[in-house]
Amino acid sequence: MKTIQEPARTTPVTREVDVLVVGGGPSGIMAALAAAEEGLSVMLIESRSHLGGNLTIGLPVLGFLDQHTRPIIAGLPQKFIDRLRLIGSASEHRPCPLHMSLTLVDPEAVKTVAMEMLLERGVEIRFYTWFASPIMAGDRLRGIITESKAGREAILGRVIIDCTGDADVAWRAGVPCEKGDSQGGMQPPTLMFCLAGVDTDQLRMSLCNEPQNYIADIIPPEYFGRNRQFIVVGLRQLIRQARADGLRLPTERTIVITGLRPGEVWVNMTRVKGVDGTDPSSLTSGEIETRRQIENITKFLIRYVPGFGSAQFIRTAPFLGIRETRRIVGQYVMTREDILECRRFTDAIAVGSYPVDLHRPHDNDCTLEYCGDSYEIPYRSLLPQGVSYLLIAGRCISTTHEAMAAIRVMSTCMALGEAAGRAAKIAVRHGLAPADIPIATLQQELLCAGAFLHSGSLH
Ligand SMILES: Cc1cc2nc3c(=O)[nH]c(=O)nc-3n(C[C@H](O)[C@H](O)[C@H](O)COP(=O)(O)OP(=O)(O)OC[C@H]3O[C@@H](n4cnc5c(N)ncnc54)[C@H](O)[C@@H]3O)c2cc1C
Repeated sequence: MKTIQEPARTTPVTREVDVLVVGGGPSGIMAALAAAEEGLSVMLIESRSHLGGNLTIGLPVLGFLDQHTRPIIAGLPQKFIDRLRLIGSASEHRPCPLHMSLTLVDPEAVKTVAMEMLLERGVEIRFYTWFASPIMAGDRLRGIITESKAGREAILGRVIIDCTGDADVAWRAGVPCEKGDSQGGMQPPTLMFCLAGVDTDQLRMSLCNEPQNYIADIIPPEYFGRNRQFIVVGLRQLIRQARADGLRLPTERTIVITGLRPGEVWVNMTRVKGVDGTDPSSLTSGEIETRRQIENITKFLIRYVPGFGSAQFIRTAPFLGIRETRRIVGQYVMTREDILECRRFTDAIAVGSYPVDLHRPHDNDCTLEYCGDSYEIPYRSLLPQGVSYLLIAGRCISTTHEAMAAIRVMSTCMALGEAAGRAAKIAVRHGLAPADIPIATLQQELLCAGAFLHSGSLH
């Protein structure tokens, strides 16, 4: 490959903070809130114009409840949902046999409420700013270089939390990372889109009353009779029929989610195999291809699925939703067995119950594996190998491809963010590296804040 030599340059240090959070999605919002609780200086860098990450693409938050409908995520994530509920912008946690629970959130309210909560805690937010490269002193991460319309800046932090979803900071700092399955295959991305004018009562009552025609995966027909807000996954026979009639569709399953407003439905059905969310050319072809798929998917819903006869296309999500990219190889790598055997850890910092929900990289279908209860997530999975003063939260923590498919839901990512933020605060308070903080102190602090740490304590 042809290369050029970039000239060396002097970069201004514009900020020095106690805790620097990179990425303002579900994990980053919670990390910054937790770190700022006792007046530490906390800054959050976000490349987009708003907070929320995938909380803003029309998805419900899954997994606040476990497989027995008990709450397993509380603390700051629950406070965030409570704030949204105060203004009618979130639903309650609704049990779901397939997804454990769904909590509907309004994407626009998420952006505003998250921003106000961070500003109330004194977090300095910087939008339109990209993490570009790490500043290292030996194996210690000292800060980051950012790129923006103002040029390059250096921002120093005593502890840095990578909440980019893609482990951008960890990877550039030299932390070993993995991508995808044993062949590098990653879960495909989806461009979410929204339809209005859907008769969601007709949809749910057709599912309830005509189970011979409208078959959902795992969720029993009577569920739809009882619930006005729901996710439909399935209707595979309608997809087969539409294909036989000549319609090209990219998925084997219909996935639609009711919105908070009457008649609003979010569609989770575009998908492209082989997209790498860390490669802008690949991302671009993913955006182009998924956008082109919307027309046929909408035709399918209007022609074949009950309740969609008068539906109108409203909007797409602001960006292509990326399910999987890099995962750090940290001090402990969580596995599929840890999930399915409900393993417990002495350094547990969060509890999950969401199944291994793998949108398979090499075909158009999905694998779902349930553990029957809950599993714990160890602090060591937030700690990278080889680089100190760095914590990772969100979907890119240290797991295998299969375990990532379980911990990736947004309730869990929020809980991981809270744990990372509290760990960073303890590290700064005691002048320690995050890897050296007493785990009992972190666990005690999380428990005091209302978080769940141990699956056993639920019984
Ligand atoms: C199509 C799809 C459907 C899904 N369905 C569900 C669902 O129904 N319910 C559910 O709970 N979960 C769902 N998930 C999973 C969930 O959305 C993600 O796993 C979760 O949002 C990850 O949270 P995060 O904080 O790690 O990252 P993200 O939500 O991706 O947030 C990362 C943030 O970091 C910012 N950022 C990234 N790189 C940089 C950089 N270099 N510099 C500055 N900022 C940066 C981004 O702009 C973003 O705001 C779905 C995911 C996808 C893609």
